[in-house]
Amino acid sequence: MAQRTDFKMKYVYGPVKSWRLGNSLGVDLLSQKQKQCSFNCSYCQVGPTPFYVLERKVFVPTEDVVKEVLSVKNRDIDYITFSGNGEPTLALNLGETIKKIKQKRKEKVAVLTNSSLLFRKDVREELSYADMVQCKLDAATDRTFAIISTQSKAITYNSIIAGLKLFRQEYKGELCLQIMFLQSNINEAEQFVLLAKEINPDLIELNTPLRKSQEKPITPKQMEEIKKLFYEFNVRCVYDKHRDPSVPIDKKTTEKRRGKEL
Ligand code: SF4
Repeated sequence: MAQRTDFKMKYVYGPVKSWRLGNSLGVDLLSQKQKQCSFNCSYCQVGPTPFYVLERKVFVPTEDVVKEVLSVKNRDIDYITFSGNGEPTLALNLGETIKKIKQKRKEKVAVLTNSSLLFRKDVREELSYADMVQCKLDAATDRTFAIISTQSKAITYNSIIAGLKLFRQEYKGELCLQIMFLQSNINEAEQFVLLAKEINPDLIELNTPLRKSQEKPITPKQMEEIKKLFYEFNVRCVYDKHRDPSVPIDKKTTEKRRGKEL
């Protein structure tokens, strides 16, 4: 029987078939009309960042989000994933919400972060409740960081690298480093390998934009060459995975957070 896709969800989206996390139920602790993000990534699937957000605050009530997550049943979910329309660590109730969901649901919890706030102790502590944290790192130099990730001067490249290293030292769960390869950072592949050795993640994901985006993906052949450089790591690559189409509960709210599948 076909699953319904016409339920109205406010904070929860998907489930989506993720090449990284299997059947993933998304939770958006920001859930605002406009994207709330500390970055303005050149490939962002939900469009340009209207204004930079750097201050942590409660955007939506914890109890309402938890209630909605608990209402999703019989969907064979692998991960409950905090992501959404912006940067999830901006939500001041991230740790509290993860803890409450883990008390009531058996699935693992993942958080996808752009790494911008990892320099903060409170953020690292809250992320420690998750089973997996996937940390974005799309530049191996200060210059490329300004081209790909942000033009804001409020977050420095050095603070991101320092935050990643501190988080690695403290975090007991699975730390995944995600690198989005584009034509603008493809020449930094060897520098990424050196950085990865310093950060020491459990897993590295090699990605390139395959959903609707302003940036063109690198080719499978280019990715294959890059993958060879990471031979010392446990690597997962977007081109290696077959992607099944998703069957979300609410298609509209899911596309708002993830962009359209191509
Ligand atoms: S890709 Fe993620 S981190 Fe980058 S601008 Fe979009 S929402 Fe923010």
